[in-house]
Amino acid sequence: MKLILLGAPGAGKGTQAKLIANHFGIPHISTGDIFRTNIKNGTELGIKAKEYMDKGALVPDELTVDLVLDTLSSPECSGGYVLDGFPRTINQAEALDAALAKKGDAIDSVIDIEVDDEAIIERMSGRRVCPACGASFHVVNIPPAKEGICDACGAQLIIRKDDEPETVKARLATYHKQTQPLIGYYTERGKNVRIDGMQDMESVFDQIKEKLAK
Ligand code: AMP
Repeated sequence: MKLILLGAPGAGKGTQAKLIANHFGIPHISTGDIFRTNIKNGTELGIKAKEYMDKGALVPDELTVDLVLDTLSSPECSGGYVLDGFPRTINQAEALDAALAKKGDAIDSVIDIEVDDEAIIERMSGRRVCPACGASFHVVNIPPAKEGICDACGAQLIIRKDDEPETVKARLATYHKQTQPLIGYYTERGKNVRIDGMQDMESVFDQIKEKLAK
């Protein structure tokens, strides 16, 4: 099963991708996570990617496409995968389609999680992450047991630089301009599966399972 998760930043792609990966036993490939790991490790890719991420812009396709295509050609991905955060441009989608077509392969479905901009801003402004173990919380929806402290490892929680209000607005604008056109691209190819993302995590996952079963 080869799936793509599409949606604005904060639509819940990461959460749903983890649930899908667990449920179907396929790897979860998150380009955002790959870039963040590179930033943490101070790699050349991380240093370059950070410049764009901190502004709410997309990392250029030259740095993104080969990285993902290499990952997808690894043996772990041979039985399928769920892509979270890739593709984010028509150019990336075309590169992915072309690489798969060369092997006589194709993406099965694109899960498009739809959430209003206001809800996105509300969700992202409350998001807190643990810089030590990567656990994720929300001041209202998933509060840690002790305010500002990670339940899992006890580290002080932080606001991710790209969750700061100005960056969130820029990321939303980037989404509408560069990523939203992918909905049309995949609809034309009969792959787009629309999901109402304005519900709780479990209901969104139920919709995904139900629609994929069809
Ligand atoms: P995410 O965690 O998926 O929201 O990604 C965080 C940031 O990483 C994005 O705002 C982009 O700057 C960058 N990024 C992630 N995936 C891509 C991609 N496919 N193309 C370009 N930039 C990306």
